Amino acid sequence: MFDSLQERLGKVFEGLSKVGTLNEKDVDNALREVRVALLEADVALPVVKQFVADLRERAVGQEVLRSVTPGQQVVKIVHDRLAEMLGGEQSEIQLRKEPPTAIMLVGLQGSGKTTTTGKIAKRLKEKQKQKVLMASLDVRRPAAQDQLRQLGWQVGVDTLDNVPGEPPKAIAKRALQKAALEGYDVVLLDTAGRLSIDQELMDEVKEVEAAAKPSETLLVADSMTGQDAVTTAQNFQEAVELTGIVLTRVDGDARGGAALSMRQVTGRPIKLIGVGEKLDALEAFHPDRIANRILG
Ligand code: GDP
Repeated sequence: MFDSLQERLGKVFEGLSKVGTLNEKDVDNALREVRVALLEADVALPVVKQFVADLRERAVGQEVLRSVTPGQQVVKIVHDRLAEMLGGEQSEIQLRKEPPTAIMLVGLQGSGKTTTTGKIAKRLKEKQKQKVLMASLDVRRPAAQDQLRQLGWQVGVDTLDNVPGEPPKAIAKRALQKAALEGYDVVLLDTAGRLSIDQELMDEVKEVEAAAKPSETLLVADSMTGQDAVTTAQNFQEAVELTGIVLTRVDGDARGGAALSMRQVTGRPIKLIGVGEKLDALEAFHPDRIANRILG
């Protein structure tokens, strides 16, 4: 991810660090190139505008131009602002002190939601020693239920049996009851997806939210869809209280526009990223490390 952005910013800063002193015009030129680089990476326009305006204020306002190493200082300013744009601190999945914790996953069909449910189950089980129960709330697609069950077998995590005709909110309640009775720490609720957002889907996720009162409601979005992923997050946020984003297919996304805009536009942190099809291809999202990587 961020390959082209990295390359373009690298060139801008290489130019800046060569010169001993900088004037406002040098900064303006560099900022113009930063702006183009971000737009080419498919970052949302308002986010780019704000970013460049903030950089300008910081670069011109902090005596940077008169310092001994202005180029390096500008790089530092860009780094810090990038890390802020990506969300600042790293955000973890929050588990309740008193189990079970309900985690609801929402998103469009094909975003990688079911795979991500399996990946999160594996991660919670292996890294945090949690006893996890998964439940498919996709009552219309038996294939989705089978997929989750198979993932459960693969990662060694239990899946709630589906009862024909049971509505999603009732499945969520039954999963939580089972968890409380049988000592599960976490319940992962894999809600139904649709190819596009419709009122029925939104009503359904709202009902599940009301029934399950999840500690976390994670939107799963495909990084490759760029700004559409950000718009999807905004739409879901109007229906439910999202607590974070999981960006999938980051491994195939050379531009990174969704990752760069998501926090700023939605106000919600990216908590995890999917970096491959395998079930261990899920990583924590570290804004600071990613800012370092982008700046090389
Ligand atoms: P759902 O319809 O949202 O539940 O999507 P699925 O979980 O069925 O995923 C759709 C496809 O995306 C599957 O082939 C997954 O293997 C693939 N997939 C999911 N996450 C990732 C990821 O992070 N990277 C890559 N390369 N593929 C992924």
